Amino acid sequence: MSGGAQRYVPTNAIKSAVAGHEIHVLDALGISWRIGRPHIHCPYPTHTDEHASWRWDERRVRAFCSCITGAHDIFNVVAAVERLDFSATKVRVAELLGRPDLIIHTMGVHSPQEAHARVHARRTVLKGSGVLDRKQGQSVQACTREPAVP
Ligand SMILES: [Zn+2]
Repeated sequence: MSGGAQRYVPTNAIKSAVAGHEIHVLDALGISWRIGRPHIHCPYPTHTDEHASWRWDERRVRAFCSCITGAHDIFNVVAAVERLDFSATKVRVAELLGRPDLIIHTMGVHSPQEAHARVHARRTVLKGSGVLDRKQGQSVQACTREPAVP
């Protein structure tokens, strides 16, 4: 996805901001990890979980599931749940944490959609000019002169 390029979150800033607050991100995503014993049904759209296979390990600060090779950190979880690339995931984590101050807006616009709309509008503005419609054969000369005074 290239649409998120206009919003940027520095990796170090978001990593230190989310440290110790991972469960807030899980809660904000609506993942009911607390009801697991310890597993819940996998929240990833790519995994049709017949059994409850996914769990969040608070001590290790990682997620485990039969669909995961190794473990997922909080960024991996957000990326998997919302199908985002890493750049967009950092922005999403900042939003979920309630830290919009970490999001840097570039190009002076507030959303990728707005940036796209502006560029698109600029491209199409000159395309619609039609052929000039001329009247032909009518050469009307209006006489505006006053009669000459002798
Ligand atoms: Zn899974």
